Amino acid sequence: AYLDGIGGMWCVNVGYGRSEIAEVMARQGELMPYYSTFTDTTNVPAVQLSAKLAELAPGSINNVMYSCSGSAANDSAVRLAHYYHARRGMPGKKHIITRRSAYHGSTYLGISLSGRDYRNPGHVHFVDDIVQHLSAPNTYRRPDDLSLEAFRDQLVAEFESKIQELGADNIAAFIAEPIMGAGGVIVPPPGYLQEMRELCRKNDILYISDEVVTAFGRLGHMFSSLDEFGIQPDMIVAAKGITSGYIPLGATLFSDEIIDVISEPDEGACFEHGFTYSGHPVACAVALKNIEILESESICEHVRDVGDYFEQQLRTLVDLPYVGDVRGRRFMMCVEYVADKKTKAQLPWELDISRRISDACEERGLMVRPLGHLDVLSPPLVLTRSDIDELVRILGDSIEAVAPDIRAALN
Ligand code: PLP
Repeated sequence: AYLDGIGGMWCVNVGYGRSEIAEVMARQGELMPYYSTFTDTTNVPAVQLSAKLAELAPGSINNVMYSCSGSAANDSAVRLAHYYHARRGMPGKKHIITRRSAYHGSTYLGISLSGRDYRNPGHVHFVDDIVQHLSAPNTYRRPDDLSLEAFRDQLVAEFESKIQELGADNIAAFIAEPIMGAGGVIVPPPGYLQEMRELCRKNDILYISDEVVTAFGRLGHMFSSLDEFGIQPDMIVAAKGITSGYIPLGATLFSDEIIDVISEPDEGACFEHGFTYSGHPVACAVALKNIEILESESICEHVRDVGDYFEQQLRTLVDLPYVGDVRGRRFMMCVEYVADKKTKAQLPWELDISRRISDACEERGLMVRPLGHLDVLSPPLVLTRSDIDELVRILGDSIEAVAPDIRAALN
């Protein structure tokens, strides 16, 4: 038996063994295993899920396009941004602004939108002049003498000068995860996302909020952009927790302002978009059941309550050897290891500390995700306080068990 501190891959939000989800899959398979959402047909679960997402998403985000993954959903968001601006008579608005250390997917566009550090030597930089990178809002690695406010202002000023450099008329969208996930669970400084959003509004730049990890309860809300961070995006990208990983589904949600522009009659104009499996009835039926579970079991409320306890307990590990930082929000956390807590100098890669600690955790019945110098924790959202106590105890024991080997290797 293992306690899954990773939630599969930040996705098994309602936890394992939900037979009601398996039953929905089987029933939908018998009723209507497939029908396309192209042209003038659709299927009942796709319609119902669209209505539900429109109800849950903030503000005028009442429209959705489906895909099979977060990567594809981000690709659709960028295509839609370009199409939207072209239909407004602004085809020059092409640049997409992203951040270093971002992760937006593993398709060619997905990895190009992500931080440059994910690219392997074979990466062909064919969209690099289109995709432009800003600094990551990594507060742990900010200069020592910079307050959080000054750091935030510096990041916002960097965006402002990027807009000046490229020209607002050439920028289509800014894309950002509210908390960066795979790039190191980076929680931005207070007010940062709001100021970035404001700059987008002032400069007619669409704001795409990549909530592939942060939606469907992970931070204690169905969507975290508005409820946790106070920003109203133009588009929200979702996947993972939308079905709790029981079946693949991606969703690109977008505002009424966008649909109004793109559905304006114009001879021959049409947003040519759609995958064979867009709005797949089995996936949409699973998503509906998953959302029903999140709601009926008040899982967001549970995360807001127990998630704060998780944060507090995990932060007690900060005094252990090699633990430089414990950070994150609620059920999206990580522990970063360093060679020197004062200088924050990194340990040599070959020591592979996060892997060693994750192996030690596995021996003790806990799974955590090693990622560079970090171990990531994104457990199912149904964890209880006593599960959390066990998780923190095993992780702490594992760090202490590995520390002597690291010390020996360094000497
Ligand atoms: N966006 C974010 C924030 C992610 O964390 C991920 C995957 O981890 C993706 C997009 C890509 O999603 P997928 O792996 O479903 O393509």
